[in-house]
Amino acid sequence: MKILKFGGTSVGSAERMRAVASLIQNDEPKIVVLSAMSGTTNALVQIAEKLYQNKNQEAKELINSLHDKYKQVVEAFYTSTDIKKKAYELINNHFEHIRSFTLDLFTVHEERAVLAQGELLSTALFQFYLEEQGIPSVLLPALNFMKIDENEEPDADYIAKNLKTELAKYPDTKLFITQGYICRNAFGEIDNLKRGGSDYSASLIGAAADASEIQIWTDIDGMHNNDPRIVKNTYPIAELSFDEAAELAYFGAKILHPSSVLPAKQKNIPVLLLNTMQPEAKGTIITSQSKGGSIKAVAAKDDITAIKIKSGRMLLAYGFLRSVFEVFERYKTPIDMITTSEVAVSLTIDNSKFLNEIITELKEFGQVEVDTDQTIICVVGDFIAERSGSGLKIFESLKSIPLRMISYGGSKNNITLLINTSDKVEALTRLNDGIFERNNGNNA
Ligand code: ASP
Ligand code: MG
Repeated sequence: MKILKFGGTSVGSAERMRAVASLIQNDEPKIVVLSAMSGTTNALVQIAEKLYQNKNQEAKELINSLHDKYKQVVEAFYTSTDIKKKAYELINNHFEHIRSFTLDLFTVHEERAVLAQGELLSTALFQFYLEEQGIPSVLLPALNFMKIDENEEPDADYIAKNLKTELAKYPDTKLFITQGYICRNAFGEIDNLKRGGSDYSASLIGAAADASEIQIWTDIDGMHNNDPRIVKNTYPIAELSFDEAAELAYFGAKILHPSSVLPAKQKNIPVLLLNTMQPEAKGTIITSQSKGGSIKAVAAKDDITAIKIKSGRMLLAYGFLRSVFEVFERYKTPIDMITTSEVAVSLTIDNSKFLNEIITELKEFGQVEVDTDQTIICVVGDFIAERSGSGLKIFESLKSIPLRMISYGGSKNNITLLINTSDKVEALTRLNDGIFERNNGNNA
């Protein structure tokens, strides 16, 4: 069994969905996981915002314009009048459902139900097309097997058990379609795996179904060695290890949801990043193997806040770091980077929701300094296997840029630096010129 996930742009129009249908046509058993059509989840988020603000008239207008967009999709997608009729009925029902939320108080449960509509629509519309084409397939409702627990973590046992039950209902079926992103929570309500979560769905489904491969189809030919939106001359990386891919995804490579690496890694299932616009391109393959030797890639993550705590109490004391970390734990705020000296500790967070509360508590330990608008630059490679000199190349490239923090040795996969966001473009460009060996076996 293979899992093939197609992102929003890959199913962004009737034409793109037809291209997906032709890509999945072979006899191999597969589960196709779809995102919402591009722009839909954003539109649903906006609708929910208006409803929260009691701006119901504005919400209705947004709902109408999204509904119109789907009518156009239906017109462009099908030729058979029967299927067209079914598709109109489907979208009308979904939009009536969304409109029903404009009638009374809007709650967080209702918001989640609204956000789920995008994937419910894309998968149903796609399956009608397969039906029109005479391609046998079954639509599996993700809400019947995808589940998160009280801590909002996927419930792997539940997912595996229920997915298998669903699949067993159709022993002769080779092609299954299901929704990414949506799930049920511990209370059985509709919920989701957070924005960009369809990749995570694909990988959880892959792990649950013991898939032989997880393919993530997007609109770029794999994970690039640097941010292609900022730097020219980037190239796709042919091979990455799970750990390298996780670092890159976490620290800014937008192509893959960071959480989606772990379920694949745990079951040792290769993840392929492929391009719907260029299906013949090799893309990136992520496996347990690391191809050592060189620096592989750079990624950048913005909106980072750096916090420095300076304290005489740290000197020769134990337990100090624990007390500091406990503050962050209390506010459920993950720490990304950390560096220490004998009298101070610096760390970074990307979620500043409880920044004020955290600072107030940290002040009990000593002097606290906060820098906002910071960017983490993460250089990923196999640094232990490296003989020597990669650090030099990195610092040489960045010699004109002030470095706020440097972290090396936490894992063998990365060197992480903190800079002012205003220096990001220069840093990425200089690293691109300074650290990559071209023709190092990559498919550039
Ligand atoms: N449709 C959801 C989003 O836009 C999930 C996804 O596409 O991965 O975030
Ligand atoms: Mg995505």
